[in-house]
Amino acid sequence: MISNSTTAYRQHDHHRCLKAALAQARNRCSARKARLTPIRESVLHLLWQSHRPLGAYKIIEQLSASSGKRILPPTVYRALDFLLELGLIHRLATLNAYIGCPFPDSVHSDYFLVCRECGSVAECSADSVNKAIVSTAERAGFRVESQTVEILGLCTPCQSTVEQPALEQPGVKQ
Ligand SMILES: [Zn+2]
Ligand SMILES: [Zn+2]
Ligand SMILES: [Zn+2]
Repeated sequence: MISNSTTAYRQHDHHRCLKAALAQARNRCSARKARLTPIRESVLHLLWQSHRPLGAYKIIEQLSASSGKRILPPTVYRALDFLLELGLIHRLATLNAYIGCPFPDSVHSDYFLVCRECGSVAECSADSVNKAIVSTAERAGFRVESQTVEILGLCTPCQSTVEQPALEQPGVKQ
């Protein structure tokens, strides 16, 4: 199993995550003879501001603000498509948002642990889950083209800050 859950939800030197992501992106681009143009790099950089996913409109807004000119949606969507294609980012369907991939160089499938409180997302991949999905699909005669599993809940730090709802005791009235 691979996962970045030990960093995603905790205080850490995030600059290292960002540096690693940009280095991996450059390697991947040169291996594929693709160009990490300034706009592609800016979008990736934005997505690596934190471990929280960003929607396309937030990206457009932030890029326009930082560059001082209006960045058009198709420009950003093209950059996102490029980064998706290279496996440098993922799209979270339920949130309609994008997140940087922490391990683009390993073969993995995408399980996301989405914290509903702080919004941080950790990415994991586990062979046992992959196998279960593939065999379930096979039994159904279904050919899998892509799989994304999004699991909603609370990360460890948020479990202690979010108040637990008082347990109701059925039948006991006060
Ligand atoms: Zn980080
Ligand atoms: Zn990934
Ligand atoms: Zn959290």
